[in-house]
Amino acid sequence: MSEQEFRRALGYANSAIDLLKRATIPPYPQFYELLYTYATGVNPALNARVNAIFRDGHATADIAERLYNEFLRSQDANERISSVSERMSHRIAAIHDAIDTTMTTANAYSATLQVASGDLGSDQLNDARLRELANALLDETRRMQDANHRLELNLAASREDIEALQRDLDDVRREALLDPLTKINNRKAFDDGLLRSVARAAEHGDHLCLMLIDIDHFKRFNDTWGHQTGDQVLRLVAMTIKSNIKGKDIAARYGGEEFAAILPDTDLEGAVILADNIRKAIQAKELLKRSTNEKLGRVTASFGVATFRPDDTPSTLVERADRCLYAAKHAGRNKVVSEIELQGDIVAA
Ligand code: GH3
Ligand code: MG
Ligand code: MG
Repeated sequence: MSEQEFRRALGYANSAIDLLKRATIPPYPQFYELLYTYATGVNPALNARVNAIFRDGHATADIAERLYNEFLRSQDANERISSVSERMSHRIAAIHDAIDTTMTTANAYSATLQVASGDLGSDQLNDARLRELANALLDETRRMQDANHRLELNLAASREDIEALQRDLDDVRREALLDPLTKINNRKAFDDGLLRSVARAAEHGDHLCLMLIDIDHFKRFNDTWGHQTGDQVLRLVAMTIKSNIKGKDIAARYGGEEFAAILPDTDLEGAVILADNIRKAIQAKELLKRSTNEKLGRVTASFGVATFRPDDTPSTLVERADRCLYAAKHAGRNKVVSEIELQGDIVAA
């Protein structure tokens, strides 16, 4: 590439950055990567989604972030899995080769031994023939030792490789269940956890509660302070929830600015107390913009708490917790509403 071509490419890049800024999408590398991926067309599902978004309206920073998380971030994990399996197949092929060589050598060795044992029993054995046999046996033994050694080396290397692969797969598996922004459990981990918890509660008749949490007027917060500051708040809320639960409890980012906590072995009364503690802890945090120390005020959140019933499925339990959350919003936000308050409504519903 000549300098002139480079400068021209730079001009296009700057125009793209200007356009993103003008459309109020921050010109971060990940949004640029979205543009690039769309332009190359390597991810048809992404292109179809982008086309659908523009058919229905405009793209926002929020949508771009979600697209990036869904299509590009998760691809990292997929790429890692395929590179792990590629390494695995190479290693297996190398071991097969080493085993083949060892077997061929072992067969030749045994043939040599057989000939030698026949010759050793013959009466025509003279000194010269004896020396010849000894040399042939020594040669074959050395070849056999070499092949065994190579196989041993290959097996040792493969043991290390397999351990490394195991670590990679564990990392990928862990990552696949984490929300990249807040580093707490993601929706998939939540769905899996709720399914397990509901099955356990149904089988053993144990208590189980579900808490749904939604940040109040978060759109307004983002609009006032920017999306990046909003992201910091999401991390802070996630950490506040996580630090208030323990043991078998599962805290997760349910979606956008919504969180959930699955609380096994917890009755409704206990879950409501916990929810109220988390509510107060969130409200108590005075937010400061890191870069400028500017005061950003506080955020609050609303809570819906439901308790497991023997005929519940994960979705009926979520539905009741969601109805409680809706009631908490309706009652003025920054509140905890549980099924106890909603009992009349639910029976009537
Ligand atoms: P309500 O009190 O009724 O819940 O009002 P709200 O503004 O919180 O609810 P609404 O559903 O209208 O808006 C949710 C907002 O959450 C919109 C979106 O900008 C923001 N949001 C969702 N995901 C993210 C994210 O990953 N990062 C940031 N910064 N904001 C997000
Ligand atoms: Mg919401
Ligand atoms: Mg909200």
